[in-house]
Amino acid sequence: MGHGIAPVQTINAAGRSPFVLVCDHASNRVPEPYGDLGLTPGQRLMHVAWDPGALNVSRTLVDLLDAQLVHSTVSRLVIDCNRTYQAPDLIPVISERIAIAVNHGLSPAERQHRIDSFHLPFHDAITALIDARDAAGRETVLVAVHSFTPVYLDVPRPWPIGLIHGRDQAFTRALSDALIADEPGLNVGWNEPYAALNGVTYTLEHHGDERGIPSSMLEIRHDEILEPEGVAAWSARLARCLTAALGAQAKATDFTPASHGVPGQHERAR
Ligand SMILES: [Zn+2]
Repeated sequence: MGHGIAPVQTINAAGRSPFVLVCDHASNRVPEPYGDLGLTPGQRLMHVAWDPGALNVSRTLVDLLDAQLVHSTVSRLVIDCNRTYQAPDLIPVISERIAIAVNHGLSPAERQHRIDSFHLPFHDAITALIDARDAAGRETVLVAVHSFTPVYLDVPRPWPIGLIHGRDQAFTRALSDALIADEPGLNVGWNEPYAALNGVTYTLEHHGDERGIPSSMLEIRHDEILEPEGVAAWSARLARCLTAALGAQAKATDFTPASHGVPGQHERAR
């Protein structure tokens, strides 16, 4: 473990789906030079270090949709790939109630080193992947997969899933409609547990809005996806609903997804 591990992984590079999945907070890995970041093993398993369950759902969605996936392999406590370089929590010194003392007072050189080593390669990989799709004339819908803690600073969060949109709301609205149609009564959070204006959607803005492609950020409450059954159920539901949302979008914007979509593939999971 340590120096040899790439900061970013691309899964199913040959995937044929219109969906490109990204998972910014896939890993709680702390690369070797950073030791344990001064945290206990228990703290490094907590949501402050990563999004528990998010990579499992992402990888299952890869199989169900034949999607490409790009994910980070580094804890957001080392550097948060879903933040701008200017964000105060790009390299957090406190997360919820856990202080990350070793991140306090970093030199500009160390800060830049982390950007160059982990943040840039992750986003360069996403950019290269979407550039290649563009060059091939392929449609792309960007889906960022996250999980959130059921209780944050003592406040319970009621939504099993939240959707967050960037400038372009249309795909996210279609996905919300699809989720509610799939399971009437499902409490789908809209811009919950937080919204783009909270500065937590760099990936969505940079790769979605700036390129003018549809995008959505999914936040699944992580108690729903800590066990294989929950991962399977949420992945199947999301595969159905992402496909349905894409179909609704296609109708709305008058283009045909027939050459892109892989409807029915999710049936394999049942
Ligand atoms: Zn996240």
